[in-house]
Amino acid sequence: MKTPVGFLFSGVRAGIKPNRRDLALVFSETPCAAVGCFTANKAKAAPILDAQSRLPSSKIHAVIINSGNANALTGPVGVQDVQSVCTAAAKALQIPADGIVSASTGVIGQRLPAHKIIAAIPQLVEELRQEPEAAAEAIMTTDTRVKMAMRAVSISGKEITLAAICKGSGMIAPELATMIAVVVTDCAIAPAALLSCLQEAMTDSFNSLTVDDDMSTNDVVFAMANGRAGNPSLAANSQELKVFSSALADICQELAREIAADGEGATKLIEVRIAGAPSAPIARDLARAVAGSNLVKAAVFGADPNWGRVLSAIGAKAGSRRYEVDPYRAAVAIQGVPVFDKEPLPHEPVQLRAKMRKPEVLVEVDLRGGTAAATAWGCDLSYDYVKINADYTSLIVPTVDGGVAKDDRLSNYSPAFKASLLVEALSYISRFSSTRCVIKYGGAAMVKDSLKKSFCDDIILLRSVGLQPIIVHGGGPEITSTLEKLGSKPHFVDGMRVTDASDLKVVEMVLTGSINTELVTLLNREGGHAVGVSGKDGALLRARKLHSEPGRDLGQVGEVTKVNSDFLEMLLKQKYIPVISPVGIGEDGQSYNINADSVAAEVAGALGVSKLIYLTDVAGILSSGELLSDLAAPDLRRLLENGTIVGGMRAKVESILKALAAGVDRVHVIDGRLPHSVIGELFTDHGVGTLITR
Ligand code: ADP
Ligand code: MG
Repeated sequence: MKTPVGFLFSGVRAGIKPNRRDLALVFSETPCAAVGCFTANKAKAAPILDAQSRLPSSKIHAVIINSGNANALTGPVGVQDVQSVCTAAAKALQIPADGIVSASTGVIGQRLPAHKIIAAIPQLVEELRQEPEAAAEAIMTTDTRVKMAMRAVSISGKEITLAAICKGSGMIAPELATMIAVVVTDCAIAPAALLSCLQEAMTDSFNSLTVDDDMSTNDVVFAMANGRAGNPSLAANSQELKVFSSALADICQELAREIAADGEGATKLIEVRIAGAPSAPIARDLARAVAGSNLVKAAVFGADPNWGRVLSAIGAKAGSRRYEVDPYRAAVAIQGVPVFDKEPLPHEPVQLRAKMRKPEVLVEVDLRGGTAAATAWGCDLSYDYVKINADYTSLIVPTVDGGVAKDDRLSNYSPAFKASLLVEALSYISRFSSTRCVIKYGGAAMVKDSLKKSFCDDIILLRSVGLQPIIVHGGGPEITSTLEKLGSKPHFVDGMRVTDASDLKVVEMVLTGSINTELVTLLNREGGHAVGVSGKDGALLRARKLHSEPGRDLGQVGEVTKVNSDFLEMLLKQKYIPVISPVGIGEDGQSYNINADSVAAEVAGALGVSKLIYLTDVAGILSSGELLSDLAAPDLRRLLENGTIVGGMRAKVESILKALAAGVDRVHVIDGRLPHSVIGELFTDHGVGTLITR
């Protein structure tokens, strides 16, 4: 992104929030004309009170912003903390003490850990650079994405650049600035002119935006102009000022739409256009009323074309404010489909609902009562909005060093949330009773103690709700490390381990003697549910030497020729969890090391299970680093052929294709690095990782 001349940005982790960037700096080497628009909330945060008392100014170099703590309603120490942060930052930047303002966002009512911010300032200054991404990330709170925008215009023959970062997701109300934004430009413009441009830009952007109508204590939009583009300073009422002003309005509008689309829990952006109003302020007020109506928002979430709520919201606002507006004369369209014109219009509800499932929903109302128009933005109201906000402070716990952490154990949630979670979970349980699922246990889940435990807990839980799991485990890194200890060098071909006769003894010892026993022990901590079996037990896995390409001898590596499913049926009938070690027995009595991915597929096919899960140490099947969440077998084959799938994933994918061909309905490749990923997969409709079907 191109940024204005002379501005630098940075964003670092100060430790206010765990494991996230939480401190941002925007800096101009030369002093700027700086202005701000501030929240109208009377419970203003300390940094807002400080900045508002010092702006407009022509001597500002920097804005420092922290997330994770709002420094609002913190008492007299709030302002002291602002001052100590600003003083330390000014010193590190070698600028005058009054050359910096600050902003904060996060939890209200907890003292700002100024010592943590001050300790991070040297790194913050060290990391200053032209790219604004890190700063934009550091100011995020419940935002799900970074918000930035950029514009370039030509003024007096000079290229003028504007760039902005902002955050805002919840507590977004249409009253003055409604989030934190910093707009910087290299344009030369006096503070007074900059302020009037910013105020004008606010009207059709941040002031026409609503997420939840809850005004924040910390909202501020800063604008800083350093004049480095070299244009003559913009004169009042000039054409040049108009060009700048409209670029500023444009950038603010882009950010306002971004904020609405990323509202807390939002799934859709709502744009409300009111035309034919008696005046612009009335048009704006009515547009906001529709975009902010909880009933309209909930209907948009459900893709329900409930146009009555639109006119009702307009009628209510017009009535309470005594506006000369008559809803009976109006025309209403949703997603371009006329639904009302002085009377209800016939329309095709199924098609309109389909149109309303798009990520942006447009509501247009022509009031036929004047010539003024306005647009407002908002978002839908989803179940997640309540989830995010119902237990917000109950989940935030202070850490000993003054930061905050999230403790989202179920016990900290409200009874209502717990109940809804359990109801959702229990509704899956009936689906599971006596269904069978083969799970290939591999990757990181086999290494980390906490993950081993959470995997075994999941399996026991699943069995207790009637699912019948069958586990096939791999060797993981343990075989390699044991072989290395014994002086043998591991060698892989396409993810398959080359195994000679002496290695085979070690492989068997690790697989059957160590990994299998450990898993069975963990599963049988309470009660005897699991039975460990090697493929040799009951001749469960008949095998022969794997026929590899000429010149590639994999040694004692085998492939399954037959699964003794009667043996498994017997265990399953008695409600045992078979835990299978992937070692096979040949007709000649030889032992074979068999790739566990293929054993899982063969067992799944032989038992006729509907679900096969591969637990591994990546998010799923990836293409150019992106997770592919849904794949059909032909697509997967193509990825195998075009070289997207290599290494250990090749063996898995070949096995997956075989399993699908053998009648398995759904194969999942999921991330075993996440605790409880098996439960997450089975107990949610969207699941995690990659789902492969025929
Ligand atoms: P496991 O213990 O689960 O069998 P492997 O290392 O044998 O683990 O196989 C999984 C590995 O395959 C991943 O860690 C990844 O490095 C590799 N891999 C290769 N191609 C892909 C791909 N397209 N998508 C995902 N993983 C891939
Ligand atoms: Mg593997």
